[in-house]
Amino acid sequence: MKVVIVGGGFAGMNLAKKLADYNSIEITLVDKHNYHFFPPLLYQVATAFIEASNISYPFRRMFQEKQNLRFHLGALVNINVADNTIETDSGILYYDHLVLAMGTETNYFGMENVKQNALPMKTIDDALNLRNHILLNLEKLTRTTDPEEREKRRNIVIAGGGPTGVEVSGMIAEMGKYILSKDYPELGNRRDSIYLVDAGHALLGPMSTKSQQEAYKVLQKLGVQIKLNTAVKDFSDDKVLLATGEIINSNTLIWASGVIAREAPGLPPELLARGRRIMVDEYNRVKGINNVFVIGDQAYQTTDQKFPNGHPQLAQVAIQQGKNLAENMKRLVAQKEMRAFSYFDKGSMAIISKFKAVVDLPRAFFKGFLAWLVWLFIHLIPIAGFRNKGKLAYNWFWAFVTNDPTLRLIIRPRKKDI
Ligand SMILES: Cc1cc2nc3c(=O)[nH]c(=O)nc-3n(C[C@H](O)[C@H](O)[C@H](O)COP(=O)(O)OP(=O)(O)OC[C@H]3O[C@@H](n4cnc5c(N)ncnc54)[C@H](O)[C@@H]3O)c2cc1C
Repeated sequence: MKVVIVGGGFAGMNLAKKLADYNSIEITLVDKHNYHFFPPLLYQVATAFIEASNISYPFRRMFQEKQNLRFHLGALVNINVADNTIETDSGILYYDHLVLAMGTETNYFGMENVKQNALPMKTIDDALNLRNHILLNLEKLTRTTDPEEREKRRNIVIAGGGPTGVEVSGMIAEMGKYILSKDYPELGNRRDSIYLVDAGHALLGPMSTKSQQEAYKVLQKLGVQIKLNTAVKDFSDDKVLLATGEIINSNTLIWASGVIAREAPGLPPELLARGRRIMVDEYNRVKGINNVFVIGDQAYQTTDQKFPNGHPQLAQVAIQQGKNLAENMKRLVAQKEMRAFSYFDKGSMAIISKFKAVVDLPRAFFKGFLAWLVWLFIHLIPIAGFRNKGKLAYNWFWAFVTNDPTLRLIIRPRKKDI
């Protein structure tokens, strides 16, 4: 049986890992990057706290010893359901079973100027781009005396008060507190003005009220200016326009505000649900197409009793769906009945600043230093590669103890196809 998996994120990688132990299945893993990466820690790459290589791992290295798995570098272009093939930008592949696990992309809600000018936080490229932008801004600040120019380079606006927005705000505020005066003496003691803007009525929307209040309190103490019930409406000419009519002069709008599922060209449009997610049955099988499955953020499944409006787009859902589908594919080969997917919610957490985090468990809430330690530990476990875990733990230890990581490098590689 030939299985083609498109996307090696949490869902695709966990499926591939489990299936690769099963020799009667021939697997091709397709991804537009040659590495798996860990999105929850992107903000630490973007703020020069850890290296990109700490949270990414090459697929070919990961599956070196697996005879039944081949990696194909390429982006999906089209799915031809009628002849069981997919077209990628680097060739055509045949499948018996196809699994889509391409996750989501940044959603700008139709705001073209925001799409053109804001800084997203979705990929390693985005994180490095943001790192360069922040560091270049600081360099330019040291050279300018023009008050307008200084203002727009000092103001940083973050759109989206979910975990990513909260985490990046806290990290940038701490960068200002611990690093700015040491690395940029020309700037004196003045810190950046950081605005965190969210259209909802609370930070950390899906978390408990206690977590929301704690995040608000800690960020406020760090000097972050929080604007709730306020949407970003436009961003051009270094001006961020808010729905209230207020304008913030800034050349930095970090967009952590929304996602939409990646396109799957070739599938009938009537299969698409809210957020462009693809409707699947209880086995993650596309409705009406027996040999095509969708897992992770891209899937819309309403059969799980506790989640009648679909699952939250979280790493744990993707991991569990990947593992469940692996089991089901083995059952398919053995001509056994498949197992319906049911999500086991282990809770959620967010880091707010150094030594401060919040953890919501199904029956408990805790915050502060213990929550922060738990956050670090939990985020270390799924990092791919033993060496990466070790390097990350060491980098964290060093960066938190010294308050002075040494990764503030402006590196601008030129993109060139081979
Ligand atoms: C900044 C950030 C922070 C997050 N923090 C948390 C958190 O703290 N906790 C949590 O539970 N969740 C968090 N999430 C959400 C979590 O990362 C997702 O729910 C999870 O990654 C979904 O897994 P997935 O496998 O469906 O998709 P992804 O992990 O997004 O993987 C998709 C894969 O598909 C590949 N791909 C995309 N398009 C194509 C194409 N056209 N052709 C070929 N390959 C393609 C990509 O390269 C990628 O490897 C965060 C997300 C982001 C962006």
